[in-house]
Parts: sequence; C-alpha cells; structure tokens
Amino acid sequence: MFDQLSGRLEKMMKFLRGEGKVTEKNMTEALKMMRLALLEADVNYKVVKEFEARIREKALGEEVLRSLTPAQQVLKIVRDELTGILGGQQKALIFAGSPPSIFMLVGLQGSGKTTTCGKLARWVAGIGKNPLLVSFDLKRLAAQAQLKTIAASLGVSFYEMTPDEMASPRDALKELMIFARNRAFDPLIVDTAGRLHVDEDLMEELRLVKDILKPVETIYVGDAMTGQDAVRSAQAFEEKIGLTSVILTKLDGDARGGAALSIVSVTGKPIKFVGVGEKPDKFDVFHPDRMASRILGMGDILTLIEKAEEEADTDEAQELARKIRKQEFTLEDFRKQLVQLKKMGSVSGILGHLPQVGPLKNLAKAEVDDSKIAHFVAIINSMTSRERENPKLLNGSRRLRIAKGSGRPVHEVNQLVKQFQDMQKMMKKPQLQKMLGGLK
Ligand code: GDP
Repeated sequence: MFDQLSGRLEKMMKFLRGEGKVTEKNMTEALKMMRLALLEADVNYKVVKEFEARIREKALGEEVLRSLTPAQQVLKIVRDELTGILGGQQKALIFAGSPPSIFMLVGLQGSGKTTTCGKLARWVAGIGKNPLLVSFDLKRLAAQAQLKTIAASLGVSFYEMTPDEMASPRDALKELMIFARNRAFDPLIVDTAGRLHVDEDLMEELRLVKDILKPVETIYVGDAMTGQDAVRSAQAFEEKIGLTSVILTKLDGDARGGAALSIVSVTGKPIKFVGVGEKPDKFDVFHPDRMASRILGMGDILTLIEKAEEEADTDEAQELARKIRKQEFTLEDFRKQLVQLKKMGSVSGILGHLPQVGPLKNLAKAEVDDSKIAHFVAIINSMTSRERENPKLLNGSRRLRIAKGSGRPVHEVNQLVKQFQDMQKMMKKPQLQKMLGGLK
C-alpha cells in the first residue's frame, strides 16, 4: 500500500533538493510529478487539483523562497496538506450520552462490513465497553450466521433475531433497543444489508433501520482495494442516508491508496479506523498525520511505539521514546529493541512502520530475517557495557574481539555499527523529534 506513491513523491523531493532553489519553474515541474503520482495512485481528480493548487500557493510563498532549506519547507507543506486531505486531526468514535450508543455499519457486499463489525466490537471491548452485535438484513436471513460465528469466536454478545421477528422489522428493532438498554450493553453494533450495487431497495431498508435506531454513528465500510468505486459508493450512501464516519478495509492489500486519499474530501466524513488484514486484531485507529508521514517515507514511529506498548512493558516503551528524544539511544537499547522485535513476531510488519529511509529501507526490504536479528543480538552481547554505551570506542581490535566472541564475521560487526550510527542520525531529525514531542 502506498509504496509506489511514496517512491514517486520521494523522487519529486529529490528533484527539488537537487535544484537547490525553489523557483516557479522547477516547482511547476515538481508539482507535475506529484500530480502524476497522485493520479496514478487513483486519487480523485478534483482532490488532486485542489491539493496541487494549495501546495503551489504555499510553496511559492515568500517564506519558502527565502528559506535556506526550500526543499524541506516544501516537504513540510506537502506533509501538512496530505494530513489535511486525510482528515487533519484524528477523530474519535462518538458514544451516546445515554447508552446504548448505536453504531450502524453500512456498505456494499464484500466490503468487509461483517468482519469489521467483529473487529469494532473487539476494539470497544478493549477500552472497557460491553458491546452487543446484531445483524439486520431483511433479505438475507442467513447473514446472521456469519456474524454469530464471529461474535462467538470473539466472546462478544450476539442478539439473534428470528424470521418471525424480522417479519415486522419496526417491532423487532424496538425490542432490540429495549433488550440492549435493560442489559446495559453499549455500544450496540448493527451489521446491515449489503448489495453488490447501491440500489433504492437497499437504501430504503437502511433508512428504516436508521429512523428507528437513531444511530450516533453511521459508519460507511469501504474496500480500499476498489479505489474510486469505494469513494463513489460512499458518496451515494452519504447522500441517501447520511454518514458520520468511514472505516476503510483491506489497506493491507495492494490498493494504490486512492480511496484513502479521496474519501474524506469527497464525503466530508472522517476515516476513524482501517482494516489491515482478515484477523480480528488487524484493525488500527486511523491517524491522518501518521499516514501522511508514512506516505512521504518519514515512517510511523508513533504507531511503532504504540505497538510496542501494547505488547511490551509500557514503562520501557516510554523510556525508549524519551531516549530517542534526548538522543540517548545506545546499542544496549538497540539490543533490547531487537529482542523485543523478535518476541513480537512479524518483523516485516513492524519494520513497515519505521521510516523508509537510508539503511532502514534495506533493513525493511530484504535484509532482515529472524536469523539476522539473532546475529545482531549475538554481536551486541559480545560487547562490554562501556562499548554499548559508547560505540565510538569500537576500534579495529575491539571489533575483531567482538567478531570472535560472537562467532560472526567482522564485516557484520561493521555493518551493525554502521546501521546503528545511521539510525542515531535519523533519530536526530527534527520531524521525528517533533512527532515524539507529544510523548512523555
Ligand atoms: P461483507 O460482505 O461486507 O460483510 O464482507 P465480509 O466481512 O464478509 O468480508 C469479505 C472478505 O473480505 C472476507 O474474506 C474478509 O476476510 C475480507 N476482509 C475484511 N476486512 C479485511 C481487511 O482489512 N483485510 C483483508 N485482507 N481482508 C479483509
């Protein structure tokens, strides 16, 4: 996801850096590269046009032209604008003042709606809520079975409706509300009918559910792999029944990113979560700023740290953030991270969150496999604690000793030291420091 777009935007930045000064002429050239990159990523044409106009205006402003690092300034402008079209600030789920909060999920068949109902239930349960799942599809009574299975596997409560009850949908929905309220369920997550195409029949059914349940969240679930089709159908749902938010699924696939980059501007509704795999835990809160940084290859250190926090000791993760901020990150910390990384399992998943620059790019792509991590850990284990604190001590003879001690070749020791130094350099970057600024 976004790989191609990232690559092309990186090229554009390289071009501008090479030019030294930002002028109207080279900015026009750079903007053309950006426009093509976005269109190729299947971003809505109108969105691209407005995006380009805003960047042109800001990039050719006095401040950039006079600045000593114009390319960096442009990068910042592009990042901020990208964050803007992805929705700006992260928007939280809305819960009703008096429970149950009703979350109604709508979308086309196959978009991942039912799977997402389960993921959402799991997520809200994780923040201490007591969700109730229900499936409401007047045409396909069998749709209940799938959600029931998902609910059972997650240990989440499920409300079953009989065909008799479904025959009088208004009464059935009112019963459901009473049931949820009396048992203090919150939220009530409603999976609704999906069709292959948007049609009036479907919209009527959804309006009925919406009128009776009065959901606090009407969430459009869209398949990111379908690109602009997902955006168009979101627009139709917004016009016909009204939406409050969006969840995009299958961002783990080879979608080119157009849906994510267009849907907020086109519908005016925020993306609140994204689905990144079939499993229930493959579900992330959507952060526009982090996504923008990731598209621009600045990586997503905050998400990485959050992942580490979920699975590791929180104090340690905070300590790591503090060390990176204070530039006190040592080889010993690196070793701890590598050990942690191994514990967390999916190395490529984690590395996807690291800034895709310089040596880390190679690290993320080909070079890292679990044995490599084990070798790096072995090398660091063979260092004295003074060497781990201060790698400058690592002269030729010390490196030879470490290579012997760890049973690894010297060039690998050199490689580790080099990668660590590159990492330290990267951690000094102001963008990263800014991202970490919010952490204690
Ligand atoms: P519905 O018809 O909209 O209810 O769609 P389903 O929930 O049945 O999902 C359709 C297919 O998409 C299933 O095979 C899901 O496992 C898959 N799916 C759902 N969300 C994701 C996701 O985020 N990533 C991937 N790779 N597959 C997903």
